[in-house]
Amino acid sequence: MKEKGTTTVIRNASWVIYWDAEKETHRYGRNLDVVFQGKHIQYIGPAYKGEVDTEISGTDLLVMPGLVNLHCHLYGGSVDKGIFDDIGAKALYGHALYSYSSLLQMEDEEAPDSVEGALCELLRSGVTTVVDISRSFPGKWDLLLRSGLRVYIAESFRQARWVDVEGREVRYEWNEKAGWEGLEKAIQTVQQARSHPSGRLGGIIMPAQVDTCKPDLFQEAFRQAVALNVPFHTHGAQTLIEVHEILRRHGISPIQWLEELGVLSERTTLGHGIFLDHHPWSPLRSQEDMYRLAAHNVSVAHCPTVFARTGMSLHTFGKYRKAGINLGIGTDSYPYNMLEEIRNAIYLARVSAGSVFDTSTKDAFFAATVGGARALLRNDIGRLAPGCKADLVLVDLHHPSMLPVHDPLRSLVFVAAERAVRDVYIDGEIVVKNGTIQTMDWEQSKKREQQAQEQVIKRVPFVDPKGRSLNTIAPLSLD
Ligand SMILES: [Zn+2]
Repeated sequence: MKEKGTTTVIRNASWVIYWDAEKETHRYGRNLDVVFQGKHIQYIGPAYKGEVDTEISGTDLLVMPGLVNLHCHLYGGSVDKGIFDDIGAKALYGHALYSYSSLLQMEDEEAPDSVEGALCELLRSGVTTVVDISRSFPGKWDLLLRSGLRVYIAESFRQARWVDVEGREVRYEWNEKAGWEGLEKAIQTVQQARSHPSGRLGGIIMPAQVDTCKPDLFQEAFRQAVALNVPFHTHGAQTLIEVHEILRRHGISPIQWLEELGVLSERTTLGHGIFLDHHPWSPLRSQEDMYRLAAHNVSVAHCPTVFARTGMSLHTFGKYRKAGINLGIGTDSYPYNMLEEIRNAIYLARVSAGSVFDTSTKDAFFAATVGGARALLRNDIGRLAPGCKADLVLVDLHHPSMLPVHDPLRSLVFVAAERAVRDVYIDGEIVVKNGTIQTMDWEQSKKREQQAQEQVIKRVPFVDPKGRSLNTIAPLSLD
């Protein structure tokens, strides 16, 4: 059956990253036509002879699949920019999560500007699908739809709040009912998202963190994800505080605990999954967690940059991959630059392993495309093949940051990043054209976000239990 919609050909593209279905791998093609009709790719090959409505010259272009950002917090992530980059809680292994993130309180009316800015940055770096782990705020759905992105909405829920005790202890303030209400709401959100006529929204069931939900909620949430046939995410093995807490409560690792609950499966994605029992900093010595995740076909959403800022790293991307774990890549919070995230994934893997052989450009690019798609239970995004979604990125090979071009993916990942992204298409619609976002106003949203950050900073003394100013807690980088 022919799909309705106009037909576009990218004629004689210098380089194309297309999907080899038989070998299940991305491949380079040279001087190929890429044709899409409506929302889907129709043809990739030499000299397309069919009728077309629009023709784009592919000379000096790399055509590649849109990136899948498997773990992202659009809400509030970028008002944190430049504030806590140099600090951590000394008595909590240097983790910044518990002592600082709650000090920055954004009002819901400030959220749209911040989220719009983040969405713009994602588009500029070639993201076409994003998993957004955010709370709801007025106008959220309109904004997500206007962005043109494919969005998986994960409105996470939990039964406990972390209470930081003077930066030396984390206590849990429980409200079990709130978690159950959150699950109810998440089920409704999933149903609304996937029945949306745009076809670009999806939903995810996500108990927020391993340490903030009780076993019965975890198990019921997983049952609901199975019944709805949607992905199931949670943050797990993300800090040593969490590992110690699960050890104190249950005497086993967070991963083993999730396994005993029966919530590890091919629909399960673990956000971060850094402090498994083989990690050199883990108090455990068992070295079994990685194989547990692999045995249950669990995916790990790897967000290298935000952890690198506090001196932490997965051990290692290559080890996980060789153990058989499906890896995806996410930006978590700022910067919302997926191409830099791929670069950091490679660098940190190699530094953590002490070896160039740990992770290749191909491995990391696979994770940022097909790996993310697999975690979302999809085989029609993150790859360029007939029948797949027309989610594609056109890279300008003549951009000075790309030149000289010997291997365009390496030029893009190791040097140019978003600077060389020319056009982005999602569902066959152009959303970035000549480097300019077509669907939102990046500059204006960031100007308003500046004002939002100033307001957030003014509120810090009222949020901080000791009434300190932000500058006392987190001084500027220079006096
Ligand atoms: Zn997260």
